Amino acid sequence: MAVASRTAEAPDLDEIRKCVHCGICLPQCPTYRVLGEEMDSPRGRIYLMRAAAEGRVGLSRTFQHHLDLCLGCRACETACPSGVRFGSLLEATRAELRRAGPPAKHRLLQTFIFSVFPEPARLGAALALFKLYKRSGLRALVRATGVLRRLPQLAAMEALLEDVPAAAPLPEFVSARGRVVGRVGLLTGCVQRHLYPGVNRDTARLLALAGFEVVIPKSQGCCGALELHAGRVDAHASRARALAAAFPDDLDFVVTNAAGCGAAMKEYGHRIPELARFAARVRDVTEVLAGADLPLGPLDLTVTYHDACHLVHGQRVRQEPRQLLRRIPGLRLVELADSDLCCGSAGIYNLLEPGVARELLERKLARIVESGARVVAAANPGCLLQIAWGCRQRGLDVTLVHPVELLARAVDAHQG
Ligand code: SF4
Ligand code: SF4
Repeated sequence: MAVASRTAEAPDLDEIRKCVHCGICLPQCPTYRVLGEEMDSPRGRIYLMRAAAEGRVGLSRTFQHHLDLCLGCRACETACPSGVRFGSLLEATRAELRRAGPPAKHRLLQTFIFSVFPEPARLGAALALFKLYKRSGLRALVRATGVLRRLPQLAAMEALLEDVPAAAPLPEFVSARGRVVGRVGLLTGCVQRHLYPGVNRDTARLLALAGFEVVIPKSQGCCGALELHAGRVDAHASRARALAAAFPDDLDFVVTNAAGCGAAMKEYGHRIPELARFAARVRDVTEVLAGADLPLGPLDLTVTYHDACHLVHGQRVRQEPRQLLRRIPGLRLVELADSDLCCGSAGIYNLLEPGVARELLERKLARIVESGARVVAAANPGCLLQIAWGCRQRGLDVTLVHPVELLARAVDAHQG
């Protein structure tokens, strides 16, 4: 079959050909489980990519639709016995669609998201306006008019945000406690620094307690993950280069506590070879703390753990968060059924595809209720926002936390 003329960002045909159509990935794919359509499964999407590469189909609206519905959760990668790197294929296909396909859906919303979310200062200003919107009574008024029912994407964004905490800036350097075992950088992230500043504070504190000097450069920006997943590869590359340049060269690790950021940063070298050395030093905070001797006091809690897709599938970090939580005296960790099935957050997927996202959230909430836990730990801000919103909607008495918050509470309990 003749290969059609491709753009520079076309997915790698050799990678596409690694798929042997076995279908083992299908039961692990959230969109296949919800929609039951072959074209909304990994195998179907790879079939479409191959058909486009061989010139049998164009980059049509239908093609775009099936790719848009993909969460980019990478559960299919974990399942695949042939080692198909679906995430890379998806990123390249989305980049190709952006350059040579039909106009993107929800263009206005996407323009807003991509001009605000990856810019920490703009995101901070937007969140300050949201605070005002909520406190002034405007939110209640807007909800009462019912206007949001006609704008499901806007409604999803509005509903996700319940509160915007006050965020005191972190110092640029935190000294190690006791014997120095190493020196690490801390990524503060975009959403994380504004919506979960306590997670960054606890991360720095725990790393220091574990004996690490912690460098937190003020000049650091966004990691570019959102842009990469949307096929905005040029913007991603410039953010990746700027972020790597913001961290000093003498670090043992660059630590993240947001699964999506960590997965993207660990793979910087795939697209930008000169960042391979930086990428090799990136670690999730749970990987670094798993080997640390932390002074942990008792917490009388029943906790379940939700695997963030880009931690468990993107970074293959599954055991470390569980091991850390099990080390807290008194804490009962109960397994969550389908713990590694996407909650529907997936970056900005819940804003762009609220229908499928909502269905996945409902499934996650049902499993949480079955677990009997009142506390759900998850290591990604998107999952925390999404599941907390679902719990509020359903009136569930469930608290969402990052694992480092529980560890920090256990340290407090130890210190009495
Ligand atoms: S990335 Fe997730 S949603 Fe997309 S095909 Fe793979 S398993 Fe399905
Ligand atoms: S498991 Fe791998 S080889 Fe099998 S259909 Fe899925 S992507 Fe293709």
